[in-house]
Amino acid sequence: MHEPKLEWRVGQGEDIHALVPGRKLVLGGIEIAHHSGLLGHSDADALLHAITDALLGAAGLGDIGLLFPDTDPRYKGIDSGALLQAAMAELAAHGWQVVNVDSTVCAQAPRLAPYRDAMRQSIARLLAVAPEQVNVKAKTAERLGFVGRQEGIATNAVCLLQRETPRR
Ligand code: MG
Repeated sequence: MHEPKLEWRVGQGEDIHALVPGRKLVLGGIEIAHHSGLLGHSDADALLHAITDALLGAAGLGDIGLLFPDTDPRYKGIDSGALLQAAMAELAAHGWQVVNVDSTVCAQAPRLAPYRDAMRQSIARLLAVAPEQVNVKAKTAERLGFVGRQEGIATNAVCLLQRETPRR
């Protein structure tokens, strides 16, 4: 028996959305109590967008805007979890499995620590991996810049994928 040959790829993603009154704040698929929410064509879940881009990047499959153009009315108000799962289906079609995802949300407010575990569980469920394979970090911007002025929220994510090397 030959050991299967594994290959690995890392990917990186980031996102920024404006924070405005009258919108729901959704991060990592979890609704967060706040007086403002993120503006966007979809539900503007900047954390899931960064993770989706990291996954697509690792697999060499472009980016979220290429797969789901924001000019397409089908994606208006869409749950970003559905976009992430569609990206996961693309990855699976290429044989990729998620090893782990690490991510950071940079928001001056609200305090995200109370939601961290729920976000982790939610992301793990969307990726069909164990919560231990997902990490969500939260930080402020020390009141500097657009994040510090609470005009927006910035996110980033990295991931590692693996697959058995396809036969050629
Ligand atoms: Mg986005």
